[in-house]
Amino acid sequence: MGIHSNATSSSNGIPARSVYLDHAATTAVHPDVVAAMVPYFTASYGNPSSVHAWGRAAHQGMENARRQVAAVLRCRPREIVFTSGGTESDNLALKGAMWAYRRGLNPRKDPSVGPGHLIISAIEHHAILHSAEDLESHGFEVTVLPVDRFGVVNLEDVRAAIRPDTVLVSIMYANNEIGTIQPVKEIAEIAHEAGAYFHTDAVQAGAYLDLNADAIGADLLSLSAHKFYGPKGVGVLYMRHETAVLPQQHGGSQESRRRASTENVPGIVGLGAALSRVHANREAESEYVVGLRDRLIRGVQERIPGVHLMGHPEQRLHNNAAFCIEGLEAETLLLRLDMRGIGASSGAACASGSTEPSHVLRALGVSRELAEGSLRLTVGLENTPEDIDYTVEVLAGLVAELRAVEPAMQA
Ligand code: PLP
Repeated sequence: MGIHSNATSSSNGIPARSVYLDHAATTAVHPDVVAAMVPYFTASYGNPSSVHAWGRAAHQGMENARRQVAAVLRCRPREIVFTSGGTESDNLALKGAMWAYRRGLNPRKDPSVGPGHLIISAIEHHAILHSAEDLESHGFEVTVLPVDRFGVVNLEDVRAAIRPDTVLVSIMYANNEIGTIQPVKEIAEIAHEAGAYFHTDAVQAGAYLDLNADAIGADLLSLSAHKFYGPKGVGVLYMRHETAVLPQQHGGSQESRRRASTENVPGIVGLGAALSRVHANREAESEYVVGLRDRLIRGVQERIPGVHLMGHPEQRLHNNAAFCIEGLEAETLLLRLDMRGIGASSGAACASGSTEPSHVLRALGVSRELAEGSLRLTVGLENTPEDIDYTVEVLAGLVAELRAVEPAMQA
């Protein structure tokens, strides 16, 4: 499955393996995707709005990508809006839907009913959480739903939160830190019964889960190419036909007046090629990645005492192994792993010397002490079983070492 090999290298006679285990942060661009993009930098570099041959070639590449995305989402190409990434897609979905309601553009809801209500979960990405905060500052009202200890939203909580002026329910498909997959279809049904729209942030789900928009029940769905072996800085907002969304940036009439600015043609071509490729191979690649993930989880649990798996044991993303390790400080562990050639991440943010648990771990009810030892390992196509065994070996050694030098932290 290797897309770029993790060749074992030797420096100062010490063998060092390079193991990238941060695929939730970003992925390498697949060589086939790079090849698809190159002509749009070098030959077909026109502005897709131009009428001449260069413009027409760029336009054709972009429209081909739109069809590729539509084929995966099983929607109409004109329901696809290209953006600068997951963050912009999330902002456009939330702010666009709420402001459209306020301006009286939502055919299902009269703005005289209430200020406009949005439902999200406590473990959304900051692109959602901070957009919701911005909307609150403009008089919209937001309900933030709790999650259970596995990170799952309770359907009865969604139902109970609905109000006559609920415009939008936005719940992520799969979580970026702990990998928990939400019951999006059921949540969409509850939203629709109340005449509200359903948006899902599918940024982490892009490579692994079914993206059929109708089957999910999504009116709005966000994707980002760099999470599925495509380039950074390009994303998608799927907008179901006739969903009332007010454009959030003003300028030209690109993307059928829904998103102004000259389109990132090479990026869009790369996004289309990457999504198409990943879904053509989804079954085999998911199986491969799940094998690595489970080998990793098993290895860590067998070799290291005091380890807690975060997120749902079964309803979890194919590539995600998230842990909290007792008696450890994540930042130190990450640096030591890096020195051994392993790229990992943590769910804790280090701010001015104090380690703050992430909002996701807080929402799960993880104690501050345990959250300090949070470690997220996300596997991908270029990883091998040998990489996983090496990682488990190194991790077990480092944890024992760090616990020995910091016995106070084990109390
Ligand atoms: N939503 C989720 C769940 C994510 O994991 C990310 C990126 O990590 C984003 C949104 C933002 O995507 P982008 O980096 O393309 O802006």
